[in-house]
Amino acid sequence: MDLDEQLRKTRLLVFTMEGSCMLKNDIIELVIEDMSVNGEGIGKHEGMAFFVKDAIVGDKIRARITKLKKTYGYARVEEIVEASADRTVPRCELHKRCGGCQIQAMDYRAQLAFKEKKVRDNLIRLGGFSEEEVAAVMEPIVGMDEPYRYRNKAQFPIGTDKEGNTVAGFYAARSHDIIPVTDCKLGVEQNELVLKAVLSYMKECNIRPYDETTGKGLVRHVLIRYGFTTKEIMVCLVINGKSLPAADKLVAMLCEIEGMQSISINSNTKNTNVILGDVTKCIWGTPYITDYIHLRTCGGKMPQEAGVAADATEFALTNTAIAYHISPQSFYQVNPVQTEKLYSLALDYAGLTGKEAVWDLYCGIGTISLFLAGKAGKVYGVEIVPQAIEDAKNNAKLNDITNVQFIVGKAEEVLTKFYEKNLTHAMPDLAAGSGGEGDMLHPDVIVVDPPRKGCDEKCLETMLKMQPERIVYVSCDSATLARDLRILCDGGYELKRVRAVDQFGNTTHVETVCLLSKKSQ
Ligand code: SAH
Repeated sequence: MDLDEQLRKTRLLVFTMEGSCMLKNDIIELVIEDMSVNGEGIGKHEGMAFFVKDAIVGDKIRARITKLKKTYGYARVEEIVEASADRTVPRCELHKRCGGCQIQAMDYRAQLAFKEKKVRDNLIRLGGFSEEEVAAVMEPIVGMDEPYRYRNKAQFPIGTDKEGNTVAGFYAARSHDIIPVTDCKLGVEQNELVLKAVLSYMKECNIRPYDETTGKGLVRHVLIRYGFTTKEIMVCLVINGKSLPAADKLVAMLCEIEGMQSISINSNTKNTNVILGDVTKCIWGTPYITDYIHLRTCGGKMPQEAGVAADATEFALTNTAIAYHISPQSFYQVNPVQTEKLYSLALDYAGLTGKEAVWDLYCGIGTISLFLAGKAGKVYGVEIVPQAIEDAKNNAKLNDITNVQFIVGKAEEVLTKFYEKNLTHAMPDLAAGSGGEGDMLHPDVIVVDPPRKGCDEKCLETMLKMQPERIVYVSCDSATLARDLRILCDGGYELKRVRAVDQFGNTTHVETVCLLSKKSQ
């Protein structure tokens, strides 16, 4: 084998369509023309596409080739020759090293346009909808008023830096080295106060951070949650042991922070990447914090231009709110403000008048179910995680909501068994049509909010058999959404409305809510 062939085999050298050759580490000039779904800029060099992290559409760059495949490659920005008009100054200096934010350098309006395009492209490419069909049903993306400081939950690992100091921060990409940061710009400012208190408590009391290579040391993680409406703060220290020495000292320091409501210790002595262990003990305050999710108005004035945040008159707060008790282990939406907009849209799309029978599949702690219950006859929520169903039942009680029932199980199994009437026997109170609130076998509305992999095929099949008037699909992955919408549309439904909602500014993630209605025969 000659050298050329060897290099080609190891993908260190590639011949382009134009016939010239490229090597790893070559410097090339690129004009970024598109973005990948993961937020990398895409530019072409001699007919070959290169994916470049931290480059954005409109940039003219000099880039170093880092990897070559047969028909495409990867490169790293060496120099920005001409900056795109969509560039902005990122607030976090560490945004390139941290895996959390992929597109912080992109102006927020451009981020919104990128996310809207991602949903549209997926519907067309993966869902097989025509451009005209999509244009007719797609409404402008719902942006955030402020794409920073929106997360109500943070989990900081505690470790040792190269000089041996105890630090809090995040893991560098593809490693477990901790880069010290106490103020992630997506999280609330209170996080920093909490971390400073924990670090000075550890220094004063000579408490060692956990070291995952030796399995020694005590403090592993600090979990912080913040109630956006109540301003209550929860701190949970995850430790490699059963008890915390001088816990009263930590409590005294944390209690200096305004809003402190709940302090607990979680014991995790396993050698694992899972953050929380099984046992949590509250050492001060209540074992939970309370927060509210408000219903917001929908259907106000919509913005005309893609990528522009919604008009402030849309999504105004209403007086309807659901209260939640959130414990360290509970699942709870991390961006409560955008969650309100997303779920208010889902409720609006459901078109309820007070008597409908509704299924809420993949219901989690029942956030959507409890909103639906206020406007429906009866709601059944289905969720696979038993603890989430416990939380959902408690949340229903906390809010005096009685027309909702929660069922543990896989959506595809519970729904299918119910449809085949097996559940009527096992769970008499879930008998079809019980209570006269409507027929759950042929409900008016089915809402689904599945994880990234989308709905199980069996679940979609049973939904089609149940023939609800409307289906509301809330999705966190528009690729699987497009696949599932195709199945539902081929099964007799029509796509009526689609709207993207940005829950995670500065990242490439985007949520989507869709309305389908049964085609008239
Ligand atoms: N609507 C929920 C959040 C949905 S997130 C809320 O408001 O809280 C998706 C949920 O689907 C998760 O809670 C996950 O545990 C659940 N899930 C995953 N696979 C499932 C399945 N096969 N059947 C039912 N629920 C499932």
